[in-house]
Amino acid sequence: MTEVRVRFAPSPTGYLHIGGARTALYNWLWARQTSGKLILRIEDTDRERSTQASVQAIVDSMTWLGMDWDEGPGKDAGTGPYFQTERLAIYQTYVDKLIAAGAAYRCYCTKEDLDRARTEHKARTGSEQGFRYPGTCRQRTDAPAGKHVIRLKAPATGSTHWHDLIKGRIEIGNDTLQDSVLMRSDGIPLYNLGAAVDDISMGITLVARGDDHVINTPQQILIYQALGVALPQFAHMPMILAPTGEKLSKRHAAVSVMDYRDQGFLPDGVLNYLARLGWSHGDQEIFTRTELVEKFDWEHCGDTSARYDLKKFQHVQASHLRMLSAAELAKQVVPFLDKRGLTVAADDPRLLTAAPLVQPRATTFIDAADALDYFFREPPVMDEKAKTKFLTADRLAQLGVLASVVEGVSPFSREPLEAAVKSWLERDHLELKDVAQPARVALTGRSASPGLFEVMEVLGRATTLARLRLQA
Ligand code: GLU
Repeated sequence: MTEVRVRFAPSPTGYLHIGGARTALYNWLWARQTSGKLILRIEDTDRERSTQASVQAIVDSMTWLGMDWDEGPGKDAGTGPYFQTERLAIYQTYVDKLIAAGAAYRCYCTKEDLDRARTEHKARTGSEQGFRYPGTCRQRTDAPAGKHVIRLKAPATGSTHWHDLIKGRIEIGNDTLQDSVLMRSDGIPLYNLGAAVDDISMGITLVARGDDHVINTPQQILIYQALGVALPQFAHMPMILAPTGEKLSKRHAAVSVMDYRDQGFLPDGVLNYLARLGWSHGDQEIFTRTELVEKFDWEHCGDTSARYDLKKFQHVQASHLRMLSAAELAKQVVPFLDKRGLTVAADDPRLLTAAPLVQPRATTFIDAADALDYFFREPPVMDEKAKTKFLTADRLAQLGVLASVVEGVSPFSREPLEAAVKSWLERDHLELKDVAQPARVALTGRSASPGLFEVMEVLGRATTLARLRLQA
């Protein structure tokens, strides 16, 4: 079996979009399942639009999502990424081979020449639509010095086809192709040349990418064929659509991977949701990272676009949050507590006890941090409405009694606390519901919280008494 070699080849012209992250994910899952290799290749030949900040955003997003890549040109301990702008000499070598094979040619036409041809086309047909390079330099065999680009010599007849792992057989008539520019006059490759040469020279066995590239694939196939290189497999995945059916954009949802990190999503929840946006395994919705690696396949990638659904995403997210151990949740929520001005150590016993209490009702780490706030803030933020409603004069007096009831309880944990409070309630013919809500407001500043005795246990004796008595 030949080794599976896949790649993720983003252009660093903005943040990593969740569509791009899904492309990276499917490649990563496939590489890890098959013990193959994933190559990260930064397609930075559009120098005007490429930025270092965007490269960093791609690397940070991949790292945050836990999608590692293999190999590279020696940077970062030999794991890349590759940058196309560092490979210009390689593209030149391949261009020479393509010219020698009669599959590409030097074109000396100037911008004025092309403008003239375009104007003539428009005069003839009434519109600029359908204009193609007229092939002026196509038959040239000489190679005079002077400014020129390299063009693909696209066949005028026949068709180019491949069997797409997601879309099945795709056949595109060669008459739709034109002699597109492969390399600019300054030696910078355009996308089709850079991608095909890299896929060839990096030994890529499967090219999996968004289906916006289906139109480019024939030109890349022609390059393979001209060079006598066996084709890789192709898999083109449908775009992710907005709930409205339009192309998903910032207007509809957070589309940058980093936004999800900042909103307190879990990487595993993001991977799970993205995996399911375009792939299925029976009706299973929730997958751990390990299960995704085990179960992902190309056969069950849908060939129609999936729609982004925030509710579903949140559901998947919450399911993953609930899977975390107390220690993991504690560790991951610490930065979000920090953002609220609360400095708490990940191994603080109060945090470790409180984490499972807030876990069932949180969707994100932001929710969890919010739900944990009053355990660590002194005094807790008081909900004034709840205060007015529940901390009335008669209830306040009861809180003072409650404080004395729990004061001597030992150990200061939920069962003995509950037993002590219950026997006091029985003795004084009181109902828990009458005492619980004022106590909750006094202890947490809120009208909703986990169980009262759990809260007391986490707060500990001193804080519990102080908060009950402060109100009383
Ligand atoms: N740089 C291209 C993009 O960002 C990559 C396409 C490919 O994977 O071949 O869409």
